[in-house]
Amino acid sequence: MTITTANSVTTLLQELATGSVKILDLTNRLSPETPTLRLPDPFLNLIDFSTETVSEYNEPGPFWKHKNIHTGEHIGTHIDAPVHWVSGRDGHDVSTIPTERLFGPAVVLDVTQEVAEDPDFLIRVEHLEQWQKDHGPLPQNAWLLLRTGWDKYAQDQEAFLNADETGSHTPGLSAEAALWLATETNISGIGVDTVGIDAGRGAELEPPFPAHYHLLGNDKYGVTSLQNLAELPTTGAMLIVAPLPIVGGTGSPARVLALVQNA
Ligand code: MN
Repeated sequence: MTITTANSVTTLLQELATGSVKILDLTNRLSPETPTLRLPDPFLNLIDFSTETVSEYNEPGPFWKHKNIHTGEHIGTHIDAPVHWVSGRDGHDVSTIPTERLFGPAVVLDVTQEVAEDPDFLIRVEHLEQWQKDHGPLPQNAWLLLRTGWDKYAQDQEAFLNADETGSHTPGLSAEAALWLATETNISGIGVDTVGIDAGRGAELEPPFPAHYHLLGNDKYGVTSLQNLAELPTTGAMLIVAPLPIVGGTGSPARVLALVQNA
């Protein structure tokens, strides 16, 4: 005899089984072609993702195939941990981020219109305050997902970075908005559909790369290169960020999933 006691987990599992809750994958796939950040000289770049076959049902491993993976920490859809930035150097590495910070409400700020007109568009404090007026306070441990529409370029390195002689032209947060999110909210972090949590011209802001500086310096995290944000409701979804627990790691490729109520 099976005794089934209804609880929140069994209810969720039932809703997943019946399709009334669906799982959205917000992750870009990892391959040597996955678009990655390119730092200008004299800074050094991470290696791109690649695999190396060690055996493939042959002499080194007659019954199995397995590979080594080679990758930088900040490749593809990935999380930035506080120790990634000088302002967060005494904070969590990717293996010590509390798991309750990795699961949380997903809320969406949609600036696709603004970004279509200006790829260098910066989200300002007034946009965040207007969002709260419309939808209520940013929830505890929320992931604020900045939907800019940039994921349409996510399979094309050149379009994704959108660089010219003046640098990369991709949207992001103003320095004031980054400071406001870092100090005036209890969010877990932000998620972006661009290559990094700062705008392409973030080096020109004060402090340079303010999203990294303020968020990581205030124990908030960043997830980049998200996809399919258009499929999320503004509020009411749940985000699951699952990085590798690399000891001392400054970040990690992550699988990012959202649970969404089916209409
Ligand atoms: Mn990163």
